[in-house]
Amino acid sequence: MRQQIAAANWKMNLTLDQATRLLDEIVASPHHLQAHQKVILAVPFPYLALAKAKLSGKPNFFVAAQNCHTQSSGAFTGETSAEMLRSVGVEYVILGHSERREYFGESNAVLEEKVGMALTYGLTPVFCCGESLPVREAGTQNEYVENQLKESLFNLSEEQFLKLVIAYEPIWAIGTGKTASAAQAQEMHAHLRKVIAGRYGSGVADQIPVLYGGSVKGNNATELFSQPDVDGGLVGGASLVASDFEKIIEALK
Ligand code: PEP
Repeated sequence: MRQQIAAANWKMNLTLDQATRLLDEIVASPHHLQAHQKVILAVPFPYLALAKAKLSGKPNFFVAAQNCHTQSSGAFTGETSAEMLRSVGVEYVILGHSERREYFGESNAVLEEKVGMALTYGLTPVFCCGESLPVREAGTQNEYVENQLKESLFNLSEEQFLKLVIAYEPIWAIGTGKTASAAQAQEMHAHLRKVIAGRYGSGVADQIPVLYGGSVKGNNATELFSQPDVDGGLVGGASLVASDFEKIIEALK
């Protein structure tokens, strides 16, 4: 059975006090996760060690960073490497979020390097892809997203590729309250699986978790996650309120 994942992306939000409270609320909630269901919390860098400590007694809960550098160490002031993340016990790293692509100029080529670095240090990349509104309106979203995968991921070996989590996040749905319909999400996820099957075979395509991201909330998660090719969600805004995120966790298949 494919992994089903509820991943929280806190982005650049919360003070230490607020982060501690949210982690405590999440830890205190009863969860009924099955073996194939996971929760991943992508918290800001200063709270990674705190999140690791708070979640230590929660099986199926993991900590993620929201970015890493292309190099493992060196004179890159202000940056954080995959090796450092691994050394503090981080298991996952979000790479290629549209905000990183747009505001920090991360190209498909740079992301290929970051994915390689993450895998080298045993981190699982949660690789984000997704089209802007003009691309969607032009009807070229399938080719656009396919190209993001091809340019950043398709030089990986099969063994490396099998370690990935992919998140389809249409940019027009991120933080806008406009969710892709369940049918739109399913259509793109099925397309991505077909493209992956073309490169790595259907056995690999069937195993890779593909998450949907873009205004996932407690009241739409069940419908989105019930689509056959949607394996959970990457959640921004709704992951900052424990009760909202709990509903999303409960919606996992
Ligand atoms: C995100 O940041 O990845 C995201 C999907 O945000 P939101 O859920 O707020 O749209």
